[in-house]
Formats: sequence, C-alpha cells, structure tokens
Amino acid sequence: MPAHHFIANRQVPATDGQTIPVIDPSDGLAYEQIARGTAADIDQAVQAAHAAMGDSLDGPWARTCARDRGRLLADWGRAVLEHADELAGIEARDTGKTLHTARNDVLALARYFEFYAGACDKLHGDTLPYETGYTVMTVREPHGVTGHIIPWNYPVQIFGRSVGASLAAGNACVVKPAEDASLSTLYLAELAARVGFPAGALNVVTGYGHEAGAALSAHPGIHHISFTGSTVTGQRVAEAAARHHCPAVLELGGKSPQIVFDDADLDAALPVIVNAIIQNSGQTCSAGSRLLVQEGCYETLLSRLAERFRGLRAGPASMDPDLGPLVNQKQFERVRQILAAAQAEGLTEAARGQVAPGAPAQGYYQAPVLFRDVPRDSALAQEEIFGPILIAQSFRTESEALALANGTSYGLVAGVWTRDGARQLRLARQLRCGQVFINNYGAGGGVELPFGGVKSSGYGREKGFEALLGFTTLKTVAIRHGVTD
Ligand code: NDP
Repeated sequence: MPAHHFIANRQVPATDGQTIPVIDPSDGLAYEQIARGTAADIDQAVQAAHAAMGDSLDGPWARTCARDRGRLLADWGRAVLEHADELAGIEARDTGKTLHTARNDVLALARYFEFYAGACDKLHGDTLPYETGYTVMTVREPHGVTGHIIPWNYPVQIFGRSVGASLAAGNACVVKPAEDASLSTLYLAELAARVGFPAGALNVVTGYGHEAGAALSAHPGIHHISFTGSTVTGQRVAEAAARHHCPAVLELGGKSPQIVFDDADLDAALPVIVNAIIQNSGQTCSAGSRLLVQEGCYETLLSRLAERFRGLRAGPASMDPDLGPLVNQKQFERVRQILAAAQAEGLTEAARGQVAPGAPAQGYYQAPVLFRDVPRDSALAQEEIFGPILIAQSFRTESEALALANGTSYGLVAGVWTRDGARQLRLARQLRCGQVFINNYGAGGGVELPFGGVKSSGYGREKGFEALLGFTTLKTVAIRHGVTD
C-alpha cells in the first residue's frame, strides 16, 4: 500500500512529501507509511469533488442518475465481498482487531452498500396541498460535497454507513480516515474506482486529525460534515463547520447502560453483557460499559460474570484470543491511567481476565476488568473509557434504575433485561438515548436501524433510511399554472 492519498481516482502523494508510520498494535512496530495530508491536500481533494458535482449539478457524478448510483454501490458491495479476506486482514493488522471481528466489519460494510444501493431510487419528495392553481412539490437534492472524519475503532463500518449513504444521495465525498486506521479506506477507494465511480466522486486524504481533519472541517467548499469520535474533537469540528454554515452530524460515543431486573433471563443476558464490553476490546462507542442490576440478582449475576471475566484472554490475532490489543499507545496509556485512578479511589475489582502468555511484550494488551459497587459519581461510572472495563452498580426500584441509567452526560444506547412487558415499554419511552434494546443488545447494530445520540453523545442520525435523508437538502418548488377557464 503506497503512502499516497486517493484523489480523482488517482494516487496522489502529499504536497510536501511527508509521511506517517503505520504501527501494528499487536507488537508496536511500524510496517507501512501513509501520506501526511495538509490543508493543501484537502483543498485538492475538495476541488476534485467539486469538479465531479459541477457548479450547477452538471458534473459527471451529479449527472449520474439514482438508478446508476445504486448499481455502482451494488457493484462496490460485491467487490467488497470478493475481497473480504484481504480487507479483513488489512483491517485486523492496522487496528489490532481479531480476524473474526474484522471479517464481521467487512460483511457489515458490504451490507451498507447493498442497503444504500437499494435505497438510491426510493428517495423522493412530496407534492403539497397549496392554493388553487398551484402545484407544489419538494425535491430531495444532495448537499454537494460532504466531508467524513472517520475514527479508528470501526473504520470500514463507519465508512460504509457514512460514505455509502452520502454517495447514494448523490453527494461527492472527501474522507479523512484516522491516522491509525487508513489502509482499509485507501483500499476501498481503489475498489470504488475499479467498479466505475467517476473521478472525484470519492476522495481520500490521510493524515493527522489536527492537520488534515481540521482543514477538512474548516474548508468552505464542504457542504456537510459527518464526524465520529470524541466529544471534545466533535465540538471543534462543529465549531469549524458552523463558521461556514455547514451542517454537521456528530456521533460522540457514550457510557451505555445495560439494566438487568430480577425477573430477567440471566442465561440469555450473560453472554450478551460480556460481548458488549469486550467486542473490539471495548473500543466501541455503544459498548455496554455500565451494568445496572436489581439487588435480588446482583450477587448471582456478578459471581457468574466474574467467572467469565477470569477466563477471558487478550492477545494477538494469531492466538485467536477473546479480544485483541488496544489500537495505539495513547489509548493503552489512557486506559491504564483510568485503572490506576480507580485503584487510588479504592474501587472494588471483582474480576480480571488475562493477557495471553506469549503475547508480544510491546503490544497494547489490556485484560478485561469487572468493577463492582462503583459509586454513581465516580469517574469510572461517568466517563467513556474505550477499553474492556465493565462497572456494576445495584439498584432497588425501577425509578432508581432509570435515574442511574440517565445519570451521565451521555445518551447513546441502553439495554433492558426484563420479562415484564409494561416495564419494557415504560423504560423504552423514558430512557434518554438514541437506541433501546429490550432483551438483546446491539452495540449500535443493524445497518437498517437509525443510530445516534442525545446530550453529549451528539446529534443527527447515521444508518438506515434516516441517514440517507440527512445527506440531502430539501427544495420546495411552487408552480403557478392557474386553472382552465
Ligand atoms: P478523536 O475524536 O480525537 O479522533 C476521532 C477522529 O477525529 C480521527 O479521525 C481523528 O484523526 C480526527 N481528529 C482529531 N482531531 C481533529 C480535529 N482537530 N479536527 C478534525 N478531526 C480531528 O479521538 P481519539 O482518537 O483521540 O480518541 C480519544 C477518545 O475519543 C477515545 O478514548 C474514545 O473515548 C473517543 N472516541 C470515540 C469514538 C466513537 O466511536 N464515538 C471513536 C474514536 C474515539 P486522527 O486519529 O488522525 O488524529
């Protein structure tokens, strides 16, 4: 994989020739280089996207009709499936994911392309009742050129949901992947060109967030920006976008609760609770990172969970572990500092998994940890960790559970485990978040299901048909034709 951007269907080196090493998180060693993009590179990509759209929606991509956009997306989805093993291998090495997780991500990516391929030509406006002698209609049009800042935790999935929907709606895209996970995005751009997307429809500039990412969100030629990442960076992106009146979709993570009532099916809940925190080593925006358990089953559930945690192993993909390394040194240090602070606070560790014997010493491996009886205002109960750390708290009543669940600044996802139908419905209505799972937990799951948060978890929706609408702007056309005499 050469250290180049991908602009107007060509590999383009960084304007100033600088590169960034690509580190394998399983052993901490550099194995590749990517281009270090600057504002000049972003500008070049934005110009290419504008050329594809044309000044008056008369460029080659803007003239591609919905049916043909759908066909291109469908072809791209098929190409992804044909190259699934290669893509999964690239993603696993770049991010430290297990091969199993990387493969699932690639299958989800293909599914995004399939979904949006089918949706392209179902995107339509309305006719509206108005005064006699008029026909009024609304038309859904692309924003123009959209910017996409993709994080390192689910690169191909987030690319699929964001870029897939935007292209389906007819926009041209400029993508800035995370510097820790750019290789799969570059590969996908090559595949897009190969299946026939015209030059400039999709452009990728690699580089650091504070350089290329900041330049993308501030560029006046960007008409819509979608961002997934931390709350702080999301604020910066939204501020930069607001300066040029650019709408933004922000998906900023969470501290999502799973609430288990005494009447829950614990056998069904247990594996889901474990998976929701170890999936992708806990580096999932919708990780189920808080476990709220009614007091009647608290001890039973915790002792069963502790046993499971003790058997979990973190290691490199070659050892087929339960979870891989964290993505980079920074994230590794961050999680260790949070754990050290929890120890200093005197919090109770109920169980800890292991790092597999023989895992490379320089890898960023974090064994899963289960904490119990964590006070409500502790940082561990309030802040997103982005590691395999689960905290448990007990409650007595439904209203106590609700207060705990809604009691953080986040609001992305919640899970509820109970057999009581009325309680299921009450909580589904009263939980302040973007997705509620009852007797299951999707960790954001479902290509078809709109996804996004409230409060500090962000705004706007990704996925499903809702995302497609978000990548359009609505025009009202009023035609005065009069009536026959
Ligand atoms: P960031 O929010 O800083 O990074 C997310 C994306 O934004 C990356 O592509 C990054 O690029 C880019 N970026 C960084 N700075 C800017 C900027 N000034 N302007 C535009 N884009 C920018 O997250 P971190 O990687 O630092 O992770 C820190 C924490 O954020 C995690 O521990 C986790 O809590 C949260 N996070 C949440 C995610 C989610 O899915 N909601 C995903 C990732 C992180 P680059 O990486 O190249 O710097």
